[in-house]
Amino acid sequence: SCVVVGKDHDCQEVAIGDSSELAPVVIAGPCSVESRDQLLASAQSVKNAGAQMLRGGAFKPRTSPYQFQGLGIEGLKLLAEARQLTGLPVVTEVMEPAMVDVVAEYADMLQIGSRNMYNYPLLRAVGSHPLKRPVMLKRGLSATIDEWLLAAEYIVAAGNPNVVLCERGIRSYDSHTRNVLDVASVPVLKELTHLPVLIDPSHGTGFSRLVPVMARAGIAAGASGLMIEVHHNAAQALTDKNQALSPMQLQSIVEDTYAIHEVL
Ligand code: PEP
Ligand code: MN
Repeated sequence: SCVVVGKDHDCQEVAIGDSSELAPVVIAGPCSVESRDQLLASAQSVKNAGAQMLRGGAFKPRTSPYQFQGLGIEGLKLLAEARQLTGLPVVTEVMEPAMVDVVAEYADMLQIGSRNMYNYPLLRAVGSHPLKRPVMLKRGLSATIDEWLLAAEYIVAAGNPNVVLCERGIRSYDSHTRNVLDVASVPVLKELTHLPVLIDPSHGTGFSRLVPVMARAGIAAGASGLMIEVHHNAAQALTDKNQALSPMQLQSIVEDTYAIHEVL
């Protein structure tokens, strides 16, 4: 089975699925949309590096209410402009049912973040939305695989079968990594569901130096793609600066991704 992203806007269509015929999809971009200059430059450079989709948070689920919360609807408009510039379909997070309409209007794929995997009204809202935008459902901070699959069921049962899972690490006791990336969830999920699974080694490790190796591990485990955070000037990033890669580092991940897929 495969999920097609980008059907309703003027951009590339990208198929995400687990058939061995399909190349893995690399989604990349900044953690947050910070400004027009930052986003347009990032979008162009991730496209040049070989990414097929653009990510960027406009509504940010921050641990502290005093941290940058995202540009909101202004950020959505910038994402649409970046899509127009590059032809890359866009994925961005929606945090509340009341905002599903506006996020679905601008985005090609709706992201449900880790903190909202258990937000059943939000899952129903993205499931029943008439535009049936593909949904990327990230694993909850400490969700079991069964809980994660049941969260996906909420979306499907509400009427939207276009769900992609994203493993982004789970909480544990060790602070050498931000989260523990559960690479084994990929082969386990293949036994349990037809839904495609992506790996997010950026949130999964929390440190840029660990991202490339875990990206390779994810593809080797059979993931249908990757989601990677990229920033031009990581030291200045407003969010998640420790895990941001440069566009050059992204390019080498894209090359590795194709090379590994080739031998699977
Ligand atoms: C994100 O991908 O922007 C994000 C906030 O990740 P997570 O929900 O996995 O923490
Ligand atoms: Mn982030």
